[in-house]
Amino acid sequence: MRKLTIYIARHRHSTAHSAHSEPCSHCAKEIKRFGIKKIVYVDGYGEINKSLADKYHTDYVCPGYKEYAKQGVKVD
Ligand SMILES: [Zn+2]
Repeated sequence: MRKLTIYIARHRHSTAHSAHSEPCSHCAKEIKRFGIKKIVYVDGYGEINKSLADKYHTDYVCPGYKEYAKQGVKVD
């Protein structure tokens, strides 16, 4: 299988840089399920980070997941 990399970026009007785009553990699970091998994202300090999907671990909860939780949408 080809080596797939996902690049995650968020735009925010209030900053010239990419906003925090780290995937949460739920997003990461989906990323792995799709067979994506590498994750590239911007952390809370505006630094670009790269991680192998298999080695990726985080306690971060992304805004998308918070929104689903608020609306009672089940994603797992
Ligand atoms: Zn998420």
